[in-house]
Amino acid sequence: MDRNVPGLSRVILQKLNMKSYEDYKSAMDGRKSGSDFGIRTYFDMFQKMEDTFKFCAECKKLPDALPDPKSLRRCKRCQNVYYCGVVCQRANWPLHKKFCKKLKLVALDRLVEWLIFTGDIPFPTETWTKPAWDVKGWEDWFSMQEQLEEKLSAIVAGRYMTLLWANAGKPRPEDRELCESIRRLVTDFHSRPLTIGLGLRLFGINPLARPLTVHVVGASHVETLNTRPTDYDELTWMFPGHQGMEMVMVGVDVVDGPIMRPPLAMPAPQGRVYLSSYKGLYHDFWESHVETKLAARPDLVVGFHPGFHACPDLLAGWLPTLLLLRDYRLPVLFTVYSEQELKASLQILVELETNIVGYANNPFASLRPEQVYSSPNKAPVYCSSHYIALLGAEASAVPGAEGLEDDYDDCQGGEPRAAAEGGSIASGLG
Ligand SMILES: [Zn+2]
Ligand SMILES: [Zn+2]
Repeated sequence: MDRNVPGLSRVILQKLNMKSYEDYKSAMDGRKSGSDFGIRTYFDMFQKMEDTFKFCAECKKLPDALPDPKSLRRCKRCQNVYYCGVVCQRANWPLHKKFCKKLKLVALDRLVEWLIFTGDIPFPTETWTKPAWDVKGWEDWFSMQEQLEEKLSAIVAGRYMTLLWANAGKPRPEDRELCESIRRLVTDFHSRPLTIGLGLRLFGINPLARPLTVHVVGASHVETLNTRPTDYDELTWMFPGHQGMEMVMVGVDVVDGPIMRPPLAMPAPQGRVYLSSYKGLYHDFWESHVETKLAARPDLVVGFHPGFHACPDLLAGWLPTLLLLRDYRLPVLFTVYSEQELKASLQILVELETNIVGYANNPFASLRPEQVYSSPNKAPVYCSSHYIALLGAEASAVPGAEGLEDDYDDCQGGEPRAAAEGGSIASGLG
């Protein structure tokens, strides 16, 4: 592999089965020969990525199944979906036209995403000029970024942006479209730390008062592949003067890399966000590390798209963790991809008799649209589009738990009660 190719898309990693950071790094360092992956140049890299989207969106045929694999044609408008021929393209249009515009953004963003690997995105940020509770969403966040236009223009005019469009096999979009794409990817990048910050505010946990520990439960390659120790620094800008925060990524699919270092037994260093990881199940981690005081008890537990609503097997895997979080009365924030997921997840949490403090649209959801890979003609989803806040068991479900109500009030503190805006469970589920 070309030593100068500084990044690979997640899509390529999946396609090449390079889930581990070690594989990724050895490919990057050129320790594996180019022939192993068939990527020698930037052009190869972008082609390989595009290959994973090459199947007929109507009949689902792959290029190999066609008499001439090259006959696959791409929708000119979105440059995202492919067809085996005119017949399939025409048959698909009534459905595809509803999503074509959004799919154009999806296709653009997955190319521009490469600039996260090269380090161009995100642009440097500074201490928030407004208190955290005055920043109600991305519009407010962008309004705090000084010289935003200059920062965006610098990325658009950068070396890697030029390299990208010289090799992408698609025409370079207008600068305005590239700026919009960069903005969406910046929200995608910062969505996780800002959602954690939102969780702290929802539960009235004050990072200025004491060092904090946050467990990211069910972490996978999505949260940990190629994650740098500085990736959650936006929390330091959000809470200037904080006493130190540790984010521990816990999950069976945690990827080895720069943040694969043991959780701290001591408080996190003042004014810094420290990332660490544990590869394994949460309840095992709890037993081996939290109960033995090798790791701190969490002030907040966050799960990005846990997915336990999806099938009985996943729920079975999550069950010991969900019960642990409930029975130890830990403040928990889960995020989901869509309203549909929200409803299904709430249903399960009600059945488990957890106390749902609130749920709502996440003001710091990623603004980057993502398509359902195998069937693109569906409404795109957004990472962490909604959140659910939980604390302990439902009062009525626990005999003799009269103290719960008071604790709950303490926990809310004097901070804005955004969780309450989501409405009660009764109104949400009918
Ligand atoms: Zn077809
Ligand atoms: Zn299209």
